[in-house]
Amino acid sequence: MALDVVIAGGGIGGLACAYALASTGQTVRVLEREAEFTEVGAGLQMAPNATRILRRWGLLDEVLDAGVRPRRLVFRSALDGSPLTHLDLDEVFTRRYGAPYVLIHRSDLLTILVRACERAGVTLVPNSTVEDVVTKGDTAVVRTASGEHRADLAVAADGLRSRLRAHLSADEPVCAGYVAYRGALPVDQLGRDLDEHARHDVVVYVGPGCHLVQYPLRRGEIFNTVAVFASPAYRRGEPDWGGPDELDAAFAGACEQVRLGLGSLWRDRRWPMYDRLPIDRWVAGRLVLTGDAAHPMLQYLAQGACQAIEDAAQLASSLSTNDCAAGLAEYETVRTRRTAEVQTRARAWGEIWHVDGLARTLRDELFRDRRVDDFKHVDWLYLPT
Ligand SMILES: Cc1cc2nc3c(=O)[nH]c(=O)nc-3n(C[C@H](O)[C@H](O)[C@H](O)COP(=O)(O)OP(=O)(O)OC[C@H]3O[C@@H](n4cnc5c(N)ncnc54)[C@H](O)[C@@H]3O)c2cc1C
Repeated sequence: MALDVVIAGGGIGGLACAYALASTGQTVRVLEREAEFTEVGAGLQMAPNATRILRRWGLLDEVLDAGVRPRRLVFRSALDGSPLTHLDLDEVFTRRYGAPYVLIHRSDLLTILVRACERAGVTLVPNSTVEDVVTKGDTAVVRTASGEHRADLAVAADGLRSRLRAHLSADEPVCAGYVAYRGALPVDQLGRDLDEHARHDVVVYVGPGCHLVQYPLRRGEIFNTVAVFASPAYRRGEPDWGGPDELDAAFAGACEQVRLGLGSLWRDRRWPMYDRLPIDRWVAGRLVLTGDAAHPMLQYLAQGACQAIEDAAQLASSLSTNDCAAGLAEYETVRTRRTAEVQTRARAWGEIWHVDGLARTLRDELFRDRRVDDFKHVDWLYLPT
């Protein structure tokens, strides 16, 4: 018999989960606190571990139509702009991992997921803030300001600062002391011409305590920039840290291409970087965690949303082939192991990007010596598990 599922949170994780569950015959409601199902207007990299699933769900063509297939993922020095290494994202890459690497505007992905949910019969409820969940026996009661939703299962997809995670862990988000600035501008508003590489590649400029990422979006009509740096004010314990003055100071020693990129950022918004330590329990009775509520990670591997999509596929599969309790147990076992590794490696990868001194010299040498057809650093992440 179909399970009646209530999902708290309608971000990428909640909607992916809703679609996957509804497609396998479950009855799904999504409660979202905002008035609309929207995402910040910035870019998202989707690696083949996620796009393989989107293809299985029948959504990859829409994603490809809205997005960009980049040619290469290129690492350059933020100090002098010189190339360090790259990964070809060509047909060899696509064949190896069974699906392409895609860049997509977050709001385009969210629109695709909303439409897919509607087609699959998901009930989408905006303006509905989940306050708590009580689980008893085979029932979950999800409480909002306007009433209660009784269900067979409650899914917490309420993001980094998940309220519902408190049923499983008393941990708090961990601040990295880094902050991100983003900008996604129409190409014709950049005030400069983009060269061949900027129009087709994901370029990551790595520097001491900072990096800048750039790539095209929406069939090349939009150019996305993200700048991230370690805040000295955070280290000094100041409450207001990571401001635009620190942004400029952090990149003062960067090469011209990078400093030019800073001009494409929104300066009135910033995103302090947080993750959490992995936890090994995601299930409490009829409550289960997914997405950032379960495994928020630093963004260096570009995997937070990709892992949420993996969660969704696994949860739907586990619940369709087991009874509810056994399905939740299988989901927890498979996904806690996988995402703990991604969370841990994401932190380490960020450290490698931001080193200075001798470590930087060694990093650059290792990157330059790497054969570009050597996939061992991404096989663990992109190959089917
Ligand atoms: C700078 C940056 C770059 C990134 N780049 C990438 C990338 O390239 N690729 C990638 O895969 N990932 C990337 N990520 C990570 C990715 O953005 C997140 O992992 C992903 O968006 C998490 O989705 P989510 O739905 O789990 O959480 P969220 O996006 O946080 O969504 C949670 C939703 O729940 C709602 N909500 C919260 N509380 C309640 C409540 N009490 N009741 C009802 N609704 C509630 C919120 O309004 C929101 O809609 C990046 C992150 C950052 C910060």
